[in-house]
Amino acid sequence: MDFTIAPQIISKIKKLISENQSFTITTHHNSDGDAMGSSTAFAEVLRQMGKTVNIVLPNDFPAFFRWMNGAKEVINYERKPKESQAIFDATDVIICLDFNQLSRIDNLEQVVERSPKPRIVVDHHLGLKIEAEAIVSFPDSSSTCELVYHLLQACGYEKYINKNVAESLYTGIITDTGRLDYASSYSEVYTVVGALVEKGIRKNFIHDNIYNVYTYNRMRLQAAVLHENMNFLPEFHTAYITINQKNKKQYDFQLGDSEGFVNIPMVIKDVKFCALFTEYDNGTVKISLRSKGKFPANKFAEDYFAGGGHFNAAGGKFTGTLADAVQTFVNGVHEYKDLLE
Ligand code: 5GP
Ligand code: MN
Repeated sequence: MDFTIAPQIISKIKKLISENQSFTITTHHNSDGDAMGSSTAFAEVLRQMGKTVNIVLPNDFPAFFRWMNGAKEVINYERKPKESQAIFDATDVIICLDFNQLSRIDNLEQVVERSPKPRIVVDHHLGLKIEAEAIVSFPDSSSTCELVYHLLQACGYEKYINKNVAESLYTGIITDTGRLDYASSYSEVYTVVGALVEKGIRKNFIHDNIYNVYTYNRMRLQAAVLHENMNFLPEFHTAYITINQKNKKQYDFQLGDSEGFVNIPMVIKDVKFCALFTEYDNGTVKISLRSKGKFPANKFAEDYFAGGGHFNAAGGKFTGTLADAVQTFVNGVHEYKDLLE
């Protein structure tokens, strides 16, 4: 795998960093480990250089990332729209991490779109559609965190990769690959993980804080939706789970509680395609899709749920009832039958 960044991109990014003082980092709605990791890592590097840095997220992030260095200073646009707007107005440079189109930052889309400030984009999704001064885009990379590591190396910023930066980057790599299960079948990602371990990261602490922090209710939610709401379509090698409003209320659903649910049916023998449907109280349904091998989850998400993503991990939205979202999915699975045999 070759993640060599073109020399002209490197020099543009170095110039933008050295010639400017204030930076605003943003990342996608419902930030995951890669979004949080790449943002906090980049921020910590810039802060060590003496820069003024803000991280502004479209909405809140799961509590299990609060231990991350710099997570406490993150600003949530949903809660502080005016303060967020003022930060974007005052900033010199906008850094967009871990998303491929501005619609992924939800309410912040307008703010970023209207801003005339130069942008740096680092991302690993297919079909990047953001205009920027400098773009680092490698869809074959495990994570944006891995790309941030390569970028820091290529810029000669290795000395800023301290333990905190390494812990943030490590978090993004392990969460985006399901602890090095998928999207990580190439040697470079292990070289990066090795280099991060060399920085003295608290590996067990990180795993404990991300994976071993479930509430009792969260476990009962998992049990309930697997038992009551999992469906299997053996002839299509497909399985899906739904989470409805009643499940959410009954088990006091918290942000991040359904993280990883979509992958669970993937362990059924011969299953190639999985979906998770989450019902919201505003009449929309969020869809997460995962596939194995040659089934294009991103194309399916584009075709039926106005979404996209990676080849094997994608998502989208549906406006309407949960039952209609599921029906749309099942119809889509029939349309895609040939690729699911
Ligand atoms: P998740 O299922 O974990 O929410 O998302 C998996 C991947 O699908 C994300 O990394 C992102 O690339 C993509 N994705 C999820 N939701 C959406 C969406 O609403 N629109 C688009 N374009 N991509 C999405
Ligand atoms: Mn990512």
